[in-house]
Amino acid sequence: MKRRRKRRDVTAETSYLCDICGEEIVIPVDRSAGDSQEFVEDCPVCCHPQTIHVEIEEDGEVRAWSDGEAN
Ligand SMILES: [Zn+2]
Repeated sequence: MKRRRKRRDVTAETSYLCDICGEEIVIPVDRSAGDSQEFVEDCPVCCHPQTIHVEIEEDGEVRAWSDGEAN
């Protein structure tokens, strides 16, 4: 997916793989919250809370991954 728009949208979308059920979960990302984010989110498929890491790179690319089930 290529976007020609130069201005960054405040909201981006990215996805992570659920560490428990393996499903790909799409999440919205608020760029204004920083280039490196960490939060706990319940998987909408298996309902397990996980620690999600989000990193926004300099070119605007957003990456997210699960760090496993949150305590
Ligand atoms: Zn899951």
